[in-house]
Amino acid sequence: MSISIEQVNKRFGDFVAVDNVNLQIKTGELTALLGPSGSGKTTLLRIIAGLEQADSGSIRFNNEDITGRHVSERGVGFVFQHYALFKHMTVFENVAYGLTVKPKKFRPNKADIAKKVHNLLQLVQLDWTADRYPAQLSGGQRQRIALARALAVEPKVLLLDEPFGALDAKVRAELRRWLRRLHDEIHVTSVFVTHDQEEALEVADRIVVMNKGAIEQDGTPEQVYDNPANPFVYEFLGNVN
Ligand code: ADP
Repeated sequence: MSISIEQVNKRFGDFVAVDNVNLQIKTGELTALLGPSGSGKTTLLRIIAGLEQADSGSIRFNNEDITGRHVSERGVGFVFQHYALFKHMTVFENVAYGLTVKPKKFRPNKADIAKKVHNLLQLVQLDWTADRYPAQLSGGQRQRIALARALAVEPKVLLLDEPFGALDAKVRAELRRWLRRLHDEIHVTSVFVTHDQEEALEVADRIVVMNKGAIEQDGTPEQVYDNPANPFVYEFLGNVN
């Protein structure tokens, strides 16, 4: 699913959170929105998701205008910084959740759900945790389960907001490599928000650098790192190093 963002603006009162953003994301690409805190990354992600409406501009999925459409009609999957796993449900039940709440007409039968959940748990290499509860898993494992759950409904677009932000450095590094491998396997169009340039470099096919709601630079990791477009990008990448 390609994503086309055209002239998108969003204000909160007088504050300009997203400032005339134009961005084209290709099918199967893993794009990082990279920038300092408050640069509008999450707001842009939420606009793509349909969790927030832009004040002006349009969003297209595969060339179809979905600007006014509700989040439930966009076919997107989410992973957020803080695990949103249900504590009182097992891992299996958590991953199955999105399938079990579908309207009856679209709901797979029990055997198909079980098969699908186990396939997803294998994909994130955690099939052995199926009967455990989230509290019995590590933070990194919980985040992998959150990914499996997001993928269960076969999203056309996967949106990740600082998915590893709450984890320690070692686990983050491991999950970065792991997410990259997973993406190479499933190729779902993904947009990943991070303020961590190392994360963007390691994970993304493409990096979009944001500052004060606007795009400063857009390119492959090599292009952005080897040829920063302006002093902001240069300093931002340098300062984090
Ligand atoms: P980032 O993800 O780059 O840290 P955000 O998109 O979360 O940036 O936020 C950009 C700015 O918009 C922040 O300064 C934040 O305070 C403001 N903002 C975000 N959401 C709201 C909201 N619902 N109401 C008011 N201000 C908001």
